[in-house]
Amino acid sequence: MTDTILRPRDAGAEDAGASDPLLICAPLRIEARALRRGLRDLPDPPAVIRTGYGTTRAAQQAGRLSHDPFGQMMIMGVGGGLSTDLSPGDLVVGTEVGPGMGPGMGTVTCASAPILAGELRRAGLPARTGRITTVDHLVRRAGRAKLAAEGWLLADMESAPLAAAAHGRPVAVIRAVSDTPHRPLAGIVSGGLAALRSLRAAAPVAQRWAAACGTRQVLLAGPRSFCAGVERAIEIVERVLERQGPPVYVRKQIVHNTRVVGDLERRGAVFVDELDQVPDGATVVFSAHGVSPAVREEAARRGLAVIDATCPLVSKVHAEARRFAADGYTVALIGHAGHEEVEGTLGEAPGSTVLVQTAADVAALRPRDSERVAYLMQTTLSVDEAAEVAGALRERFPAVRAPGSDDICYATTNRQVAVRAVAAESDLVLVAGSTNSSNSVRLVETCERAGTPAYLIDGAEDIQLDWLAGVSTIGLTAGASAPPAVVEEIIAALSGLGPVSVSERVTTTESIRFGLPKEVRQ
Ligand code: SF4
Repeated sequence: MTDTILRPRDAGAEDAGASDPLLICAPLRIEARALRRGLRDLPDPPAVIRTGYGTTRAAQQAGRLSHDPFGQMMIMGVGGGLSTDLSPGDLVVGTEVGPGMGPGMGTVTCASAPILAGELRRAGLPARTGRITTVDHLVRRAGRAKLAAEGWLLADMESAPLAAAAHGRPVAVIRAVSDTPHRPLAGIVSGGLAALRSLRAAAPVAQRWAAACGTRQVLLAGPRSFCAGVERAIEIVERVLERQGPPVYVRKQIVHNTRVVGDLERRGAVFVDELDQVPDGATVVFSAHGVSPAVREEAARRGLAVIDATCPLVSKVHAEARRFAADGYTVALIGHAGHEEVEGTLGEAPGSTVLVQTAADVAALRPRDSERVAYLMQTTLSVDEAAEVAGALRERFPAVRAPGSDDICYATTNRQVAVRAVAAESDLVLVAGSTNSSNSVRLVETCERAGTPAYLIDGAEDIQLDWLAGVSTIGLTAGASAPPAVVEEIIAALSGLGPVSVSERVTTTESIRFGLPKEVRQ
């Protein structure tokens, strides 16, 4: 695959060198002082320069700065909140700043904003991302409402001209809210103090941001992200929402991903832990991880209309459990205790199935008949780890029956093979996925087993700046339940820290699709 080079959208000709220093711009003396206080305990604090109040001074200063040898620019100061849910002291990290107030000064994109905001929140500061507009006069009530309606979150009087001086070098803007629509200029003294406290506390994060900046390569693992079972499950809920309208009840998370669940919730899906939270006679969707027969029986008893989004590859394991149990076998289910898929499979033949998680569990196994032992696997296990437990079973019970075909599904296996390939070339690997996603957690473990540090992140906001310092090659993958858009978001955010070249390592291609249940077919 051809490499793609991503640069900040407003990139000019200048790239940051690794040793080029951070420049912090603060329009007012009082802001610069707060920032210097926040930085004074650092061993090698960056320069903070006072750039002056208002758009004219900012534009003049930008002209002087544009060819300065700084590596990264951070603009920090106070500003006026435009949204009613902001409070004095809140921090707004600009995703973009604009429109500029002078000739040639348009909108500047600050792509690393999600990473920076996440770092500020982990530091205990109330930070969010949003668009920052630079205005040439103080805005009052009606003006604030107009800017808010245009999608701006905060107004200041300097950021856009200053940011234009970065000329493609990494640039970020952090503004602390001093006044809000509820507490306009009359409350500016108390609000201003809260804002200055937040600025001071945020100052050390600016230096961590600068240390994470640099030119780097991103290696994408292929395949990654959604599998056929997840796509099918999401499509089922979407179709039920389209046909029946909200609310649509779903037992458990449809797939283990906070982004997917949040998106469907916004569209009217209601996720419940158990069926007693579903009104009588309502429609309920069973998640991709499957359910036990006891849950099906309860749904039938309650008169619920069931639409089953269980992945066909999970249903296959359930069928194997029933078949082995009917033939008088003790079924050793290799899996993780408490996982919904495991609960469902155990429920198929509870009197005959035993969960084994480790070789020690195999040693403790007491089957009715050691000649009639079979094993099955959770679909999302680590291939290597499951092989160890299966090996222990074969050693202890030479006649053990294996499943007809691999229970660990194609998507789990393919993503582990692919991430191992990129881990071998990377300084660290980022895995997009939620903490309750078994296959995503296994991808992290696969990298660690290969000797490469790896981190599970729901999105760019979870990337810790310290991970990136000195790192030039980042492997990137996504678990089978993580949306492809998250990978794009992560790449975009990394490109705000310096030029990023993106290439892909494809170990196999996938073309599997599963049919939809009859209730939602056209
Ligand atoms: S990870 Fe495998 S078993 Fe799970 S939904 Fe995807 S294809 Fe099905």
